[in-house]
Amino acid sequence: MDLNNFEDNVSMSDCPVCGGKNTLRVTSKTDNIPYFGDIFETSVLCEQCGYQSSDSISLEQNDPVKYILKIDETKMNTRVAKSQTATITIPELGLKVEPGAKSQGYVSNVEGILNRFEDAVLRAIKLESDNSDVQDNALNIIELITQLKMGELTANLILEDPWGNSLIDDDDAKKVMLTQEEADKLETGFTTIDQ
Ligand SMILES: [Zn+2]
Repeated sequence: MDLNNFEDNVSMSDCPVCGGKNTLRVTSKTDNIPYFGDIFETSVLCEQCGYQSSDSISLEQNDPVKYILKIDETKMNTRVAKSQTATITIPELGLKVEPGAKSQGYVSNVEGILNRFEDAVLRAIKLESDNSDVQDNALNIIELITQLKMGELTANLILEDPWGNSLIDDDDAKKVMLTQEEADKLETGFTTIDQ
């Protein structure tokens, strides 16, 4: 990735884990990342106990957008940029992933998105090994994903982003601007405070 680094801002603080005084190094910086625009990143590292954590939030807020792409085996390499505020849905498979507090943006392709869904379904199969309904449903989804990859099935990939920092990079993708009302119904993964 081609990153334009802005100046790092470093300060010292108390560690919330070990209670060390001024042992926590807090680094903040702004990066410009292709597809996602300006991102504000904060990372902390405790010099005493080694505690570390990092967070990033998107600074750019564009118009709410929705992409719809009919996917089959010819679309597996289509590039998809999913920001941390985006929701991905494949209605035919009953699959939806909404942003949460821990959600990250990533650039992948259609096959990569399907693989992520597949991994999540496989995790559900392991966690719910006693529940035969979950097992049957999950195995059915895995079968449908396989059929999609092999060209035996088509489905719609829908990407919605209330902050407009996401994209399905394909000439066949239909781009629709969302109304504010529609955008307000989407999760952003951020706690918002009404003023
Ligand atoms: Zn510490």
